Amino acid sequence: MTDATRIHDIVGIGIGPFNLGLACLAEPLGLDTVFLDRADDFRWHHGMMLDGATIQVPFLADLVTMADPTSPYSFLSWLKQTGRLYPFYIRENVYPLRAEYDAYCRWASEQLASLRWGREVVSVERDEAADLYVVRALRTDSGAEEVYRARHVVLGVGTQPVVPEPLRGLAGPVVHSADYLPHRERLQAAASVTVVGSGQSAAEIYRDLLDGIREGGYRLDWITRSPRFFPMEYTKLTLEMTSPEYTDHFHALPIALRQHLGREQRGLYKGISGDLVDDIYDTLYRLSASGPVPTTLLTDTAVEDASWDGERFRLRLHHAQLDQTYERETHALVLATGYAAQTPAFLDPIAAELDVDLLGRLDVARDYSVDGGRGRVFVQNGEEHTHGLTAPDLGFGAWRNSSILAAVTGREVYPIERRIAFQEFGLPQDALLPAEVGA
Ligand SMILES: Cc1cc2nc3c(=O)[nH]c(=O)nc-3n(C[C@H](O)[C@H](O)[C@H](O)COP(=O)(O)OP(=O)(O)OC[C@H]3O[C@@H](n4cnc5c(N)ncnc54)[C@H](O)[C@@H]3O)c2cc1C
Repeated sequence: MTDATRIHDIVGIGIGPFNLGLACLAEPLGLDTVFLDRADDFRWHHGMMLDGATIQVPFLADLVTMADPTSPYSFLSWLKQTGRLYPFYIRENVYPLRAEYDAYCRWASEQLASLRWGREVVSVERDEAADLYVVRALRTDSGAEEVYRARHVVLGVGTQPVVPEPLRGLAGPVVHSADYLPHRERLQAAASVTVVGSGQSAAEIYRDLLDGIREGGYRLDWITRSPRFFPMEYTKLTLEMTSPEYTDHFHALPIALRQHLGREQRGLYKGISGDLVDDIYDTLYRLSASGPVPTTLLTDTAVEDASWDGERFRLRLHHAQLDQTYERETHALVLATGYAAQTPAFLDPIAAELDVDLLGRLDVARDYSVDGGRGRVFVQNGEEHTHGLTAPDLGFGAWRNSSILAAVTGREVYPIERRIAFQEFGLPQDALLPAEVGA
């Protein structure tokens, strides 16, 4: 039962890594915070918890370290407490296993009194008179309503699986990558499986299904709209774009240019890790030593339409460079077609006070607020269109949380780096503009 008179400094909606990080960083500050999630406990991308998969960022990109290296909620603390520190040290690989990151986050979550699991948030309203927000949540166990009153609301509901229009509403064995593992056996029982998509998840699933291709006896296809299977770019000057100053630069650009750059920059963080691309090649090479491998890899190919006849899918495909349309059959589909932020319906009651851009998306201010500069409603990982590639990046979560906590407390409780890069992304500070040189 919630205390209707209690006013929280922060109510966080959703407890993924970003709001969990906020909960960890807020904990030592004496703030009154509560975080709500409809899930029963912390489970990170369980549909993609593939054996041996690692996270794509170094362990310093944990929940807290980039804001407070002395925090008890760091990945290193978890390693020490679970007796894994020396093995991690000897392993000499800064990329934790995905399963480790999941277990680490769950360990941190189990120490925080501010988390409330099994709460589905259904509305956020404004109490004008009290100058507060009223967050209503339904308990998933009883359906009972709980009401939380807050000075600040932080949205950390993550992104939702995207299913391209031609592939929506299909019957038959079709699954989004977010739910891959629970459906793996059913997919492998089909006579043929097709993976659609070009990112890390598509590659991981294709590689995983390659392992069973001989034994399972199925045909395996991989279709992508991209002109090639491109690797994620990890060169250090490019990684400098995951920085406060590049985010400043990107945020200040006109919306049309941000849209264009957003598409163009996909290769930087939506590609496939180079090691995995090579591992897939080496696996194909190894498998081909015992005869043709029943697999087809198709690039530059879009799925234009799909139908299910009760036994198999008929895909209408279009090859862009050849401008050729043709059909192909498959018995099961995996849609590794990505994720996108959506404006949750539970914000409708306060829609009038939220900033929205020309395309109807939340227009997120540089300080991550969305409420007309009042600095009371913030977004985590819903601002890729305004802030660029730092939005979904685990390595930038602590910086964003430090920024949100500075806005909530009115002081820089954790140092906020303004400059970290060697390069300049806009004009250099000493640029002499035409007016200054009397042009
Ligand atoms: C398979 C996969 C691997 C990734 N690996 C990496 C990586 O290695 N490195 C990296 O930098 N990024 C990675 N990402 C990107 C990104 O960091 C993750 O998606 C991350 O989980 C995003 O965290 P989040 O806090 O925004 O939200 P999520 O982790 O998406 O959590 C959102 C939470 O909100 C809850 N929720 C939603 N709506 C409601 C509601 N109405 N009421 C209550 N609760 C609600 C959900 O139950 C969920 O628990 C990966 C993404 C995926 C899909």
